[in-house]
Amino acid sequence: MAEQFDVVIVGAGPAGYVAAIRCAQLGFKTACVDDWSNADGKPSLGGTCLNVGCIPSKALLDSSERFAQTQHDLADHGISTGKVSVDIKKMLARKDQVVTNLTQGIAGLMKANKITMSHGRGKLLANKTVEVSRDGKVTETLSAKNVILAVGSLPIDIPVARIDGDLIVDNAGALNFETVPKRLGVIGAGVIGLELGSVWNRLGSKVTVLEAIDTFLPPVDKQLSREVFRTFTKDQGLDIKLGAMVTASKTTKKTVQVTYTLKEEEITETFDKLIVAVGRKPNTANIADDSAGLKLDERGRIDINESFETNIPGVYAIGDAVKGPMLAHKGSEEGVAVAEIIAGQKPQLNHGNIPWVIYTHPEIAWVGMNEDEAKAAGFEVNAGFFPFAANGRALAMNEKGGRIKIVADAKTDRILGIHILGPSASELISEAVLALEYSASSEDIARTVHAHPTLSEAMHEAALAVTGRALHKVN
Ligand code: NAD
Repeated sequence: MAEQFDVVIVGAGPAGYVAAIRCAQLGFKTACVDDWSNADGKPSLGGTCLNVGCIPSKALLDSSERFAQTQHDLADHGISTGKVSVDIKKMLARKDQVVTNLTQGIAGLMKANKITMSHGRGKLLANKTVEVSRDGKVTETLSAKNVILAVGSLPIDIPVARIDGDLIVDNAGALNFETVPKRLGVIGAGVIGLELGSVWNRLGSKVTVLEAIDTFLPPVDKQLSREVFRTFTKDQGLDIKLGAMVTASKTTKKTVQVTYTLKEEEITETFDKLIVAVGRKPNTANIADDSAGLKLDERGRIDINESFETNIPGVYAIGDAVKGPMLAHKGSEEGVAVAEIIAGQKPQLNHGNIPWVIYTHPEIAWVGMNEDEAKAAGFEVNAGFFPFAANGRALAMNEKGGRIKIVADAKTDRILGIHILGPSASELISEAVLALEYSASSEDIARTVHAHPTLSEAMHEAALAVTGRALHKVN
């Protein structure tokens, strides 16, 4: 007889574990099924984000940035160092320790919230029953009044460069190179390609990024993407080839040869490692038995309505496995919302106000529409920008690159989007999200006192610039 729960959640990534905690807070008898294992075969909660995604990549981005700054930036501050070297093994061990601390922290939270954890792969059967299996053997069956599927996503594998886990790797493999590859190829100039390409570039790799389309970072406001492309290529030495179509790859014992076409020319380059970062796909293969009748959409995502409910009443889905951007914070907020919906509450989650961050140096962050999107949506636009080069705190920090741009509706002054390229963009974006959430006008930010000297004054000045009255630049 299957054990009965109010809610069974499949997946303990940022969407699933947050949904589980919120369900427990709301008084539901909750179980959560997750199959991620660490090197010892023990459960390791937190999904892609904690195990092989956001957290370990940020640990390496931070370590590699310190290395790069020590080498190149300290002299400007009058600090001289001897020969600077890097111990990759130690760097990776620190990254692994950060992951272990956090995954164990999630396990502690699940326990403290009295959530029943089940280690194995969950599969939805008919009648809201979830079968759990490990190594192909069924270990238990859980029955629930409500099921939440939070099964996440997987890297897309392309036939022209199949992941072999050694020379050709995905994001997970790229976090564990034991030595710095001399020549590193990256397929895809998206979020992962740029973040992990930056890590190894800073540590000494010669990095070539092959991007199929000929626009750089299409979702980013054009003014910012042009500036950051120059910074990455001219200042940091990333070789980003736009419009490069990879047609084949061949591995030898120690190298991988990649053939691509660029402007009708066929080129073959040899790399010591190749990262494939061409997007992710929903992890929905074999997630439900045919008898359950779960409906997927044309892109393999679980089909949901505006209440996150699938075509099966009482079965919900959230996170990377459903429509919308594949972002941890989007999944987590959906986790909170779905738990509250199951409890009969009416939470509001505004998918239009989800921030994006790319953790390169400088960082890129945005929320809402960029200028072109706003115009395409029929708005008459007033845009204001302010460069960090004119911000006192940024100059004191030796961080002169980048700008903040505010896109506002010319008729109502309501802010439609805010775009940041520069130091701490990932932190500064929260003011922008709050502004959009409260339907603020640019005048609201312009009339808000910002502490001096801070980077956030660039936000204040960008808001003033919308109406041509920035104080520290010529409008
Ligand atoms: P992405 O969608 O950001 O970028 C993939 C890039 O690969 C695109 O520019 C695409 O044009 C290009 N591409 C696709 N096929 C190609 C091919 N055959 N040859 C060359 N280029 C090709 O995907 P990603 O970087 O793999 O990241 C996956 C997901 O993970 C993203 O949706 C993102 O939301 C999420 N993620 C987010 C963060 C963050 O928030 N900082 C970090 C990492 C990952």
